[in-house]
Parts: sequence; structure tokens; C-alpha cells
Amino acid sequence: MLKRLLLIAVLLIPAAAWAFIKPVRIVAPELVGVSCSSEFMCTDDPSRYQEAAALYDEALHFVDSSVGSIEKKPRVTFCSTEDCFQSFGLGKRSAATIGTFGIVISPRAWKPFYVRHEMIHHLQNEQLGIVKVWRDPQWFIEGMAYALSEDPRPKLSEPFEQYRSQFNDWYKQVGKEQLWVKANNL
Ligand SMILES: [Zn+2]
Repeated sequence: MLKRLLLIAVLLIPAAAWAFIKPVRIVAPELVGVSCSSEFMCTDDPSRYQEAAALYDEALHFVDSSVGSIEKKPRVTFCSTEDCFQSFGLGKRSAATIGTFGIVISPRAWKPFYVRHEMIHHLQNEQLGIVKVWRDPQWFIEGMAYALSEDPRPKLSEPFEQYRSQFNDWYKQVGKEQLWVKANNL
């Protein structure tokens, strides 16, 4: 129900109004005092550009080669402070991907598997479309991101551990070649 309401909101609210809603700042992170070294990478701490760029490149290469090819590189904002992350209005999570508009990484998520996880969500949005991703079962959307990012945590908090194992079982049957075809039929 919530997903449907969000979808209706996205369809009905004029683009201009979205500028006042915090997550939309992902599209224009400069608005919250973040600086961008390219159209693809931004951070609130330019002294950490190199570290951010290494995480970006590793995740892009990893997802491209082991999950599926990304059509348009995502814009990733690396927040080194909680204030920066909170200025996007994303609550308690560690990182977030908003459609194909952009990804925001919190100070806790400057790790390869977190950045890969979000890039997998970006790829899902590219391959399946935002509407389909909203409607798809969580075991697939989150399970895939946890499993294929090679998240090293042996046991995730529930329900994510359950999602990951359900995805792994499904993926064993389906295989990489049929991933998107079968995902479209979920
Ligand atoms: Zn996720």
C-alpha cells in the first residue's frame, strides 16, 4: 500500500515540488554543501576524494563484471559526516539508492560491499524500472543486493538473512544468463 501511494505521489507531484523534498537533493548534492569532482562522484570531504574514487571504481567494476552491465554510471555522494547524510533525509539506513538518480553513502558505509550493494540497486532500477522494483518482493530486491555484493557478514539481521538465502536458492536455479528475464516475471 505504501509503495502504491509513493508511486502515485511520484506520478502526480510536479517536478518543481520535488526540489523541496530532501531525497531529491541526491540529484543536486551541491545544494547541501557537497562538492563534486565529476558528474559521477561527490563528497563533503574533498581530502577523501581518492578513497571515494577507489570505492566507486571497485564497485562499478565488480557489479559490471559479476552481476550485469550498468548502462549509465550512477552519481554517488560519499558523506563523511552524519550531518551530510542526514541532510538528504534518508533516516537511519547506512546508504540509499534513489531510482537511477543517485546513491548516497553514509559515514558507516565507506566499504566495498556497501557501495556494491547500492550499485546493484541502481542496476535493478535500470534493468527492471523503478515501478517494478517497488513492486517486486523484498527477498529478490534486497536478497540479490546482499548476496551478489558478496557482503561478508556471515549472518545478517532478519529479515535480510532470510532474503539472502531465498535469493541464493532462486539464483542457483535461474543462473546469471536468465537473471533479468526471470526477474521480470516475479
Ligand atoms: Zn538494499
